[in-house]
Amino acid sequence: MKKTSIINRDFKALSIGKVARSRSSLLFVLLGTLGLFITVLYFKGNVSNPSDREATSREIPIDLPDASSKVQSTQLSVNTAPALPKPTSPPSPSPQKWTPYTVKSGDNLAKIFKHFSLSASTLHHIINSSEQAKALTKIKPGQVIKFSKNANDGFLALEYALDPVRSLRIQSILSGYESTLIEKPVKIVHNTASAVINNSLFYDAKQAGLTDRTIMELATIFGWDIDFAQNLRKGDSFSLLYESRYTGNTQLENGHILAAEFINRGSTYQAVRFVDKNGHAEYFSPDGKSMRKTFLRNPIDFARVSSHFNLRRKHPVLNRIRAHKGVDYAASTGTPIKTTGDGRIVYRGVKGGYGRVVIIQHGQKYSSLYAHLSKYGRYKKGAHVKQGQVIGYVGKSGLATGAHLHYEFRINGVHKNPLTAKFPAATPINKNLMSEFKQQTTPLLSQLRTAKQTHLAQSR
Ligand SMILES: [Zn+2]
Repeated sequence: MKKTSIINRDFKALSIGKVARSRSSLLFVLLGTLGLFITVLYFKGNVSNPSDREATSREIPIDLPDASSKVQSTQLSVNTAPALPKPTSPPSPSPQKWTPYTVKSGDNLAKIFKHFSLSASTLHHIINSSEQAKALTKIKPGQVIKFSKNANDGFLALEYALDPVRSLRIQSILSGYESTLIEKPVKIVHNTASAVINNSLFYDAKQAGLTDRTIMELATIFGWDIDFAQNLRKGDSFSLLYESRYTGNTQLENGHILAAEFINRGSTYQAVRFVDKNGHAEYFSPDGKSMRKTFLRNPIDFARVSSHFNLRRKHPVLNRIRAHKGVDYAASTGTPIKTTGDGRIVYRGVKGGYGRVVIIQHGQKYSSLYAHLSKYGRYKKGAHVKQGQVIGYVGKSGLATGAHLHYEFRINGVHKNPLTAKFPAATPINKNLMSEFKQQTTPLLSQLRTAKQTHLAQSR
């Protein structure tokens, strides 16, 4: 990818080339585990108890947005986003009468065309009239197709809503059919939200009016520095600036987080989004350090650690003192396991007590091991894998009392505790881009600052 020419994304420590890990694919994986996320953060008992006496001895005031939590959302600026390619202006046919049809489960195009008294050959010609028209074959229940017919009950046009923003219009012309993609303009509004964690990240962020997707994005941005599953505590707080998207008066799925601050156990973390000339976006600290690390802290999102790294542990199966040189995650069989860093699979097979195991070499210095798998991912021995890709699934093969992942992390061949090991940060912003970075991010950070002060003032 060309992105690398702008932002040098090579990990020095790993020297294994480009990191093209896509944030969106990580987000996808994260969304997949949302259910687990809710279970863990919402029902588990939430934030761990503060360790200092002062904090345990008194109630921390609930600093949540009140019922009118949208009050906590301040609209800062409005602009029209060029989020999508310029819509082609459709040649507006003479005033048409549209009859909408909502696709039901079990429907197919033939049925729908028949419903409108249109022939199978019309359908055939429409679908084969263009590449775009083939989208019609992917109709799903709930989607809406509008039809327009002429005075002789013949086909005039149809409009198929691909998503809330785009629709495909196919209309009859002299020589056949013409397809046009119609896009509604999307308006982007900058919104802010703040909350103090009193229950769980998920719960409190919801109370602050955030959607699941924005909460997951927040967790992804700071997930490198903050262990949301184990290390949140009451009184932690966050503020963020994010995009709300609208078409007309309809609110769409939120856009991206533009800037955010998270205070965890007294430490403040800040992140701001920077988009380079190629449209590649990444989060950096205000001084241009990458928010990403070369390794993910955990190979499974939000799973409970059932056994810690311990060099003098009594082995549950062997029942004698045997070092536990890894971390165990309790998770149900089949839970996907992600490689914590870019690397190459150097072993994939059965190995004694480990059962089915995958070992990944990350450059010269680091390696990671994933054991007791129920099955492997699609990457074979020798394959290069990117951080976040699924290399296997939780199971209980080998010497295991129940389904869990046993995860090991080695630096120069020596076992290290992956939950506490220091990971090198990904490459910072390129020096040549620093002025552009400042120009783009300073206004976002100042909006965030203003928002934080406003929220603080409101919550007093
Ligand atoms: Zn273990």
